[in-house]
Amino acid sequence: LSPQTPVKGGTATHCPYCALQCGMNVAVDETVTITPRHDVPANAGGLCQKGWTAGELLTGERLTAPLLRGEKVGWDEALGFVADRIRAVQAEHGPDGVAVFGGGGLTNEKAYQLGKFARVVLRTSQIDYNGRFCMSSAAAATNRAFGMDRGLPFPITDLARADAVLIAGGNMAETMPPFVRHLAAMRAAGGRLIVIDPRVTATARQADLHLQPTPGTDLALALGLLHIVVAEGDVDEDYVAARTSGFDAVRTSVAAWWPERVERITGVPVARMRAAVAILVGANRAVILTGRGAEQHAKGTDTVSAFVNLALALGLPGREGSGYGCVTGQGNGQGGREHGQKADQLPGYRRIDDPAARAHVAAVWGVDPGDLPGPGRSGYELLDALGTGGGPRALLLFGSNPLVSAPRAGHVAERLGSLDLLVVSDLVLSETAAMADVVLPTTQWAEESGTMTNLEGRVLLRRQAAAPPSGVRSDLEILRGLATRLRGTAGAEGFPTDPREVFDELRRASAGGTADYAGITYERIAAETGVFWPCPAEDHPGTPRPFLDGFATPDGRARFVPVEHRPPEEEVDPEYPLHLTTGRVLAHYQSGAQTRRIATLNMAAPEAFVELHPDLAEHLGVAPGETLRVVSRRGATEAPARVNPAIRQDTVFMPFHWPGVNLLTNPALDPVSRMPEFKVCAVRVERAG
Ligand code: SF4
Repeated sequence: LSPQTPVKGGTATHCPYCALQCGMNVAVDETVTITPRHDVPANAGGLCQKGWTAGELLTGERLTAPLLRGEKVGWDEALGFVADRIRAVQAEHGPDGVAVFGGGGLTNEKAYQLGKFARVVLRTSQIDYNGRFCMSSAAAATNRAFGMDRGLPFPITDLARADAVLIAGGNMAETMPPFVRHLAAMRAAGGRLIVIDPRVTATARQADLHLQPTPGTDLALALGLLHIVVAEGDVDEDYVAARTSGFDAVRTSVAAWWPERVERITGVPVARMRAAVAILVGANRAVILTGRGAEQHAKGTDTVSAFVNLALALGLPGREGSGYGCVTGQGNGQGGREHGQKADQLPGYRRIDDPAARAHVAAVWGVDPGDLPGPGRSGYELLDALGTGGGPRALLLFGSNPLVSAPRAGHVAERLGSLDLLVVSDLVLSETAAMADVVLPTTQWAEESGTMTNLEGRVLLRRQAAAPPSGVRSDLEILRGLATRLRGTAGAEGFPTDPREVFDELRRASAGGTADYAGITYERIAAETGVFWPCPAEDHPGTPRPFLDGFATPDGRARFVPVEHRPPEEEVDPEYPLHLTTGRVLAHYQSGAQTRRIATLNMAAPEAFVELHPDLAEHLGVAPGETLRVVSRRGATEAPARVNPAIRQDTVFMPFHWPGVNLLTNPALDPVSRMPEFKVCAVRVERAG
């Protein structure tokens, strides 16, 4: 189990990127050789091109010395400077003068330690992370329906056993290709795939049925599907009576969403809606999944609730081989939201405003519960408040690149630029790091050990496979270094640098919480190729399907939540007549800070583009490859045209892995999850120049 445990073909570990956390062997000598693992069910021998080329992260250009205002300095000088500035800012502005922003790619240990550092060392309430931009709407909706947010509450291999899978707003064929193996196995056995997406994506091309709604109307579509289920008498009444509450209000509210009305709003023909319902109703086992396309809206929580209501009416959640699931995106998107780097959470997926939760975690941390700060601002609200009167004056940023990934990115750049202190911990000079006062170079995935929790809720061990170059430190070492300087040696005692030590404390802090890791050990993860939480004791087998015997609500019943469709926050008009929607391409991951530095991936996808329908291109007089200027109320960007009949005539698409597109996006927030409306805003498109 030592970090260097030799296995055939290298060290058994996991991919640095997405939430599938594909298993891979990494062998390092003069070169890095990556081969897929067959023992990890999520990928079972498959990798996508991002995974195959991940070795270039270890051998390519990266930071190896701290930077202070662009100049290389030693660690003592860099950390001393940061600690002095934190002290000065907090002396003038109080504890909340300093903010922390984390990332959904950080290991569980780092996410845990970052939350603890913010609350115990900085004593600030101002901490959130980029996962707010990822799955917060699905998390909010599943918490209110099931009392628990676990992305897939079943093993991913269950998909192959389903008779039907509906995916709303997910494009796994590009974002996590090995996922598609499970769908292909389902279809090979006679199952049917339904995809809801405004574009004919690579995933939609594999579907038996594709529904192509106007961006921002998924909620209406889900209501229309449930209307048909009710009208046709296809509700699983026994299941609803035995395992749920609140259906009467939903049954009443969806009566107003008759298919013809929904067709007018969504553009999806009634016949296609009926066909989708027929497939779902005819399936013995069916699964409904949502992705960012349905979730990244100012009504994202209600949209997910509408799909959860549909799943409940069909009797799917909590039945083996069926269910509802959210397909999380970031590498540790699941674990990243469980251990306390979120503004309203403490470890174990506990609420920070719950007195019992505060008492439990404070006891583990050896502090007075009264000294723990309360909830802080959510991701975008935190960025928006930086440098303002009453907002934080300093920001410590770990594993995130908001200059590219945050909505209304031009405004975010202004806010970051107004800070008294910006500190970025990263392995490469990302766009955000390039504007930081201090950049701290960190170790990366295969240079350190730690645990990741994949999209199934399976806790995995990412083992160290290579020695880090001299000059870099792990985030755990950085946090200890800062804790030492700010709180003295005694204050740093709670900040060990050995990930296993941190994990053992995380287990105690999470014990009794929703995301209970108490029974999970590094040894068990290694022996069992991952352990599903909740796992309250070392002799507990873990919980692959947590809802089989009841939901995590006080009465064990799932809750229907009545929701209503509403238009996007920004509708098209004569000045901005087109919908803009954003998404991903196969070759890149998130803000592209890592993958844009990999030659093979860069060759495959060297730049952003504007995808538009041939009819729209003709209307605008645009030729393929011509540079276009896309303008929204918040900014403008330029990219070459990619003319493609796979998109609606009223919509343009841009990938978000490069700077530019998020200059355009709308930061309107979901009232429950505080998710920004990334997936739809109004734009106009012009020929550049
Ligand atoms: Fe697997 Fe995702 Fe890595 Fe691709 S990026 S190899 S799908 S974990």
